[in-house]
Amino acid sequence: MIRKLLRKVFNRRAAKTTTTGEPARIPVSQHGIHRSRVSSFAVKVCKTLQEHGYQAYIVGGAIRDLLIGHVPKDHDVATSATPEEVRALFRRSRIIGRRFKIVHVMSGPETIEVSTFRANQSAETDRHGRVLADNTYGTQAEDAVRRDFTVNALYYDPVSETILDYHHGVADLQQKTLRMIGEPRARYREDPVRMLRAVRLAAKLGLIIDPAAREPIREMASLLENVPAARLFDEILKLLMSGNAVRCIEQLRAEGLHHGLLPLLDVILDQPVGERFVWLALENTDERVRADKSVSPGFLFAALLWPEVTRNWKERQAAGELSQPALFAAMDDVLDTQAEQLAITRRIAGDIKDLWALQPRFDKRSGRAPFRLIEHPRFRAGWDFLHLRAAAGGIPQELPDWWDRFAHAGHDEREELLRAVPQDAAPARKRRRRRRKPASAEGAALPPDAEPAA
Ligand code: ATP
Ligand code: MG
Repeated sequence: MIRKLLRKVFNRRAAKTTTTGEPARIPVSQHGIHRSRVSSFAVKVCKTLQEHGYQAYIVGGAIRDLLIGHVPKDHDVATSATPEEVRALFRRSRIIGRRFKIVHVMSGPETIEVSTFRANQSAETDRHGRVLADNTYGTQAEDAVRRDFTVNALYYDPVSETILDYHHGVADLQQKTLRMIGEPRARYREDPVRMLRAVRLAAKLGLIIDPAAREPIREMASLLENVPAARLFDEILKLLMSGNAVRCIEQLRAEGLHHGLLPLLDVILDQPVGERFVWLALENTDERVRADKSVSPGFLFAALLWPEVTRNWKERQAAGELSQPALFAAMDDVLDTQAEQLAITRRIAGDIKDLWALQPRFDKRSGRAPFRLIEHPRFRAGWDFLHLRAAAGGIPQELPDWWDRFAHAGHDEREELLRAVPQDAAPARKRRRRRRKPASAEGAALPPDAEPAA
């Protein structure tokens, strides 16, 4: 009964946003997206579903990206078939999620996310209004209403090549506006991550966040604290690896979306202007993403947190701790602080620690140690990291350059390079410690002032 009433009220509200409740049907002659421009596997998935009597469309980011001339990075499909029905049609598929069930359909390296049309109104929420579970299926119009932004509620039928536009998303895209579907405050309460998505998508697509969606962000930012750490981590990772990290972070700062929420963002955004390391790391990542080069999350997080690690490490050394144990304790401190809010996965945390732990080993340019270091499986990543430190001015460029030559040299040349190491690169302190503790000498060789500007 109540559900019926809600549905009625809700539909009236929805009708207001769509004006007619019926989507605009935009033919290919107007939007120009021929089916050859979308993933042929996504087309096949839609066709198979349609042949079995279901509705099926390519939806969301892919269509939006194509309309503004970007190459979509993945394809999502929305359908009237339930997850179980989808699962039954594709051999290589699996249902994932419990609270939000979707189906991954796989072909070679490609995965298509297939979600069933959902209705929003009977979703289970927590005491802040955040939606916890949402497996009530609905019509396509209902599915369009529960999506976040108008530009994300475009449904493309690859068979007829028509776009169904429920909320004037195409017009908003033309006007470079990111507009929320429905009342922004209510939508942020349902899912605070939408605030981060607004910032990320605006930066990625070069859109202006509509003032009605922009204004509440500052006052509602604290709702992000209730979002599970794993979800936040995924979203931050998307943001940082989007190829627009610099723009995203600048926009986050502009929207007041950083303080007290994510320690990592505090760390990044509170760097004084002169602190170049973090920004260089972000620029470097953006360049790599845009050039289609691989970017590892471990490298990125290691870079973003490095100034924190060095600060902590230096403090510990100043208080009399030995260099290597001080470094490992600093690493743990910094990662523990992040873990309170951001679920950095165990594997990524391992990668981060590897990179950090390698850094002092680059200072050791005598004996057999350099030969061992270049055989290390993470040598290349460690050396890239060393380069970043030099580019930021924290260590002399001579150091990564020397390692570059050493790694590429033949045997005799290497001995020559070892003999040619500048005298001041091997401080007396280091040698003293090595005599006392031979077993841990490898990581103990960091002169106290050899760090990036901290
Ligand atoms: P990109 O793939 O470029 O990150 P996207 O918009 O495709 O952007 P996805 O996370 O792949 O992002 O989501 C696919 C679609 O699902 C979105 O376009 C949107 O319609 C819907 N969606 C995703 N997250 C939310 C959310 N938090 N609230 C409402 N709808 C969402
Ligand atoms: Mg997507």
